[in-house]
Amino acid sequence: MYDVIIIGKGPAGISAALYTVRSNLRTLIIGKNDSNLLKADKIDNYFGFAQTISGKELLRNGEMQVRRLGAEVLEDEVLSVEKDGFFKVVTGTASYSCKAVLLATGVPHRVIRIENLVKFEGMGVSYCTTCDGFFYNSRKVGVLGHKDFAVHEALELLTFTQDVTIYTNGKQLDVSGKYIDELGRFRVDTRKILKLEGDEFLEQLHFADGSSENIDGLFVAYESASSVDFARKLGILTVGNTVVTDNNQRTNLEGVFAAGDCSSKFRQISVAVGQGAVAGKAIIDYIKSL
Ligand SMILES: Cc1cc2nc3c(=O)[nH]c(=O)nc-3n(C[C@H](O)[C@H](O)[C@H](O)COP(=O)(O)OP(=O)(O)OC[C@H]3O[C@@H](n4cnc5c(N)ncnc54)[C@H](O)[C@@H]3O)c2cc1C
Repeated sequence: MYDVIIIGKGPAGISAALYTVRSNLRTLIIGKNDSNLLKADKIDNYFGFAQTISGKELLRNGEMQVRRLGAEVLEDEVLSVEKDGFFKVVTGTASYSCKAVLLATGVPHRVIRIENLVKFEGMGVSYCTTCDGFFYNSRKVGVLGHKDFAVHEALELLTFTQDVTIYTNGKQLDVSGKYIDELGRFRVDTRKILKLEGDEFLEQLHFADGSSENIDGLFVAYESASSVDFARKLGILTVGNTVVTDNNQRTNLEGVFAAGDCSSKFRQISVAVGQGAVAGKAIIDYIKSL
C-alpha cells in the first residue's frame, strides 16, 4: 500500500512528491507524457533561470529530481479512483492502493463540438456514470469517447442497462489491453455527431451523414479521465473544470487533495508548483494523523 498516489507528473504533481518523498512517505506518481508544459517552448516567468528554459527541459529535470529522491514514477493512464476503505487507483493494466490521493492532472484538452451538448447537461447528458447511471435503469444509453476511459465507463453502465453504445464521434477507436476484449459487449457507432435534440430532456442524436437515432442518456468520457472526472465520481465538489479545495489543497473528501491547473484559475507553473508544495505538506500531516 502506498501512502500517497499522485495522478499527474506535471509541475504540481512532481512538486508535491518532492515533499512527500523527503518525508519518507511511500509515493507513487502515475502520469502520461502530455503535460501542458510540453507545449511551452520558452519559459521566462518562472523563478531561478537566468536563461530561457523550455517546458520540456523543466519537466525532465523535475522528473529526474523526484526519481533521485526516491519517488516511483509510472507512465500510465489512470481510469478511475475508487474509495474502498482507503483508495484504489485503477489504470488499464493494474490497480494500486493508497491512503491519500493527489489529483494533479492539469486541465483536459477536450474540445467537443456537438451542438446542444452543454444545453442537455443534467438533462440526459452526464459526466458521471457512478452518480447518474442509476437513472437510466434498462434505458438506452451511450458513452461518448473512443479510448480506454470510454470502455471503462461503458462497463460501469452495464450494472444498470445492457443497451449501451459507444459513440466515437468520427474518431477511430484507440483502446488497449483488456478493454479490447470488453469491446464485444457493446455496440460501437463511429458516426460523427452533429447535434443533440430533445424537448426538455435529450431524446435524439443527429449525425453528420443525415441520419439520427433515439437515445435516453449520453455519458461523456472523451479522451482521458481528468481530475474533475475523478472528483465527480467521488462526490467531491467541482466548479466547471476546477476541483474545489481549501487553502491547504484539501478537497471535501478526506484523504483526497488537488493541485495545479485542475484546481486553479491562474494556470501557471509557479502556481502549480506552489499548490503542489502546499498539498505535499497537507498530505504529510494527514498521513501522520492516521
Ligand atoms: C502553450 C502553453 C504555454 C505555456 N506557457 C507558460 C509559461 O510560459 N509560463 C507559465 O508559468 N505557464 C505556462 N503555461 C501553463 C503551464 O504549462 C501550466 O500551468 C502547468 O503545466 C500546470 O501544471 P499541472 O501539473 O497542473 O498540469 P500539467 O502540466 O498539464 O500536467 C498534468 C499531468 O497529468 C497527467 N494526466 C492527465 N490525465 C491523466 C490520467 N487520466 N492519468 C494519468 N495522468 C494523467 C498528464 O499526462 C500530465 O503528466 C503554458 C501552457 C501552454 C498550453
